Amino acid sequence: MINNQALLDSSKNHLWLPFTQMTDYERDPLIIESGEGIILKDINGKEYLDGYSSLWLNVHGHRKKELDEAIKKQLELIAHSTLLGAANVPAIQLAEKLIEITPEKIRRVFYSDSGATSVEIAVKMAYQYWQNLGKERKKKFVTLSNNYHGDTIGAISIGNVDLFHRVYGSLMFESIKAPFPLVYRNPLKDEQEIRDCALSELRTIFHDHHDEIAAITVEPLMQGAGGMNVMPKGYLKGVEELCREFNILLIVDEVATGFGRTGKMFAVEHEDVQPDIMTAAKGITGGYLPIAVTLTTEEIYEAFYGEYEEMKTFFHGHSYTGNQLGCAVALANFKIYDEEKILEQAAKKAEFIKSELETLKHLAHVGDIRQAGLMCGIELVQNKDTGEAYPWIERIGYKATLEMRERGMLTRPLGDVMVFMPPLASTEEQIRKMVEIMADSIKAVTEKEKSAV
Ligand code: PMP
Repeated sequence: MINNQALLDSSKNHLWLPFTQMTDYERDPLIIESGEGIILKDINGKEYLDGYSSLWLNVHGHRKKELDEAIKKQLELIAHSTLLGAANVPAIQLAEKLIEITPEKIRRVFYSDSGATSVEIAVKMAYQYWQNLGKERKKKFVTLSNNYHGDTIGAISIGNVDLFHRVYGSLMFESIKAPFPLVYRNPLKDEQEIRDCALSELRTIFHDHHDEIAAITVEPLMQGAGGMNVMPKGYLKGVEELCREFNILLIVDEVATGFGRTGKMFAVEHEDVQPDIMTAAKGITGGYLPIAVTLTTEEIYEAFYGEYEEMKTFFHGHSYTGNQLGCAVALANFKIYDEEKILEQAAKKAEFIKSELETLKHLAHVGDIRQAGLMCGIELVQNKDTGEAYPWIERIGYKATLEMRERGMLTRPLGDVMVFMPPLASTEEQIRKMVEIMADSIKAVTEKEKSAV
């Protein structure tokens, strides 16, 4: 029998939670014990709807029978052996499946175990690609404002979220910053104009520096942790065209957007874009185990292929890369995509979410609602007419999520942007309930603030 108080005390004494100010945790601790479908249950038996897919990765809900079974079956063979110099059966089978479902030019799969590591690998791969070709000057990376690619040094170097990255300034290598075509609060009102402006600035950067740029990294269709920002239509395609014109590699980070989250298997499909390197992670195992992949073309792979003495080897690898349990559950995950027509369902659910979110639009402090499939951001503002933000110190976003928790739903805010990213398996009824909880919580928090003034 677990002693809840002892567990709580122990968590306060020994744990250090990621991306968490521990005084916040100590004031409002939450310890999850189990999950079923899209419901999470804490140690006191309180239930919560999983409004953030357990950080943007759960697909079919928790304790999905087929996924549980796949892990058990693989356990009867082996849990893990190294991929350094030796392949394994599920890693091969999963690579084949990934090649089948990714854009046509993608032909090779390099495994790792988190979104950030898949991005580190993309950076090193792009960098070494040009070195191996003898183009030694092509070493720089272009990144868009508010890009987020994970928390390791390479990933933050090509990231661009001031709040998260500022403190690590001198640890990072320098990258070239280009503007993301932000629509909300943009003095230009026309989306196409916003897109063309951003593309024109990118063109200037590419034109002036193409002989020293290795690659550009983008989060396709929707920027995630940088604020849930949707790209204007045609922007991604425009970036691809500029990459081809100036001989710059296109790295797309599908860690958040991949595997149906935006309504298609990958976000690049919305604009028929063929990346040179693509990273993916979160949904790959249905949200069960830490598998990530960096996918690339045969052309890039071939630049690393040769005799050992040619010094073209890609010197990168992690102990748990290509873990058999993870690959086995990923294979079972994709079987469910086929059997349960998950992508068709996702597109329909995205439409349903869109109509439900309409009910939030009229709230006095909802400034903007942004959505790409089942990926949504709801921005709370002090003044709806001007878009004026709340002072950050008020932590309205954080307070709203605590209120949601009280009312039985979990998510995490990005500043004052509420993230709504339910598992693809959520039913219409569950979606409606979550939107209701969000509306009530937003009202409770923003109206409380008003009466306190
Ligand atoms: N890239 C993107 C676009 C992400 O959204 C994230 C995580 N939110 C990452 C990379 C990092 O993934 P991980 O947390 O698995 O390292």
